[in-house]
Amino acid sequence: MAYTYDPENIFAKILRGEIPNKTVLETDHSLAFHDIYPQAPTHVLIIPKGPYVTYDHFAAEAADEEIIDYTRTIAKVCEMMEVAEGGFRMISNAGHAGVQEVPHLHVHILAGRPLGRMLQPAG
Ligand code: AMP
Repeated sequence: MAYTYDPENIFAKILRGEIPNKTVLETDHSLAFHDIYPQAPTHVLIIPKGPYVTYDHFAAEAADEEIIDYTRTIAKVCEMMEVAEGGFRMISNAGHAGVQEVPHLHVHILAGRPLGRMLQPAG
């Protein structure tokens, strides 16, 4: 699958400073910020700064240092948000079936309430 990155997506605008965000953590290659419509008491999005559409795109094409930075940023955010003890869910939606709204890779970290089963029956 060849991915085409749309530089006008909303997270690209956040990275360019055109739209504000509530930053949790910023590193050389990654940015973590609070979701604007939180689905749980803790709802943080973590994005790489590079132009990757989905996790598989990033995992295939990003440089090693980007992958290490992104992975460690996820760990640091989990530590900062103290999600490990109570449990959490990490989601990365991709494409049409995954109902991805913003075509820039992001993982959601959700915590702070019982999150239910992973998937609802298709409907
Ligand atoms: P997804 O369906 O996985 O693409 O999720 C996109 C997420 O981005 C949703 O949870 C939105 O609430 C969130 N979102 C959209 N715009 C913004 C924004 N400007 N700042 C923070 N989160 C946003």
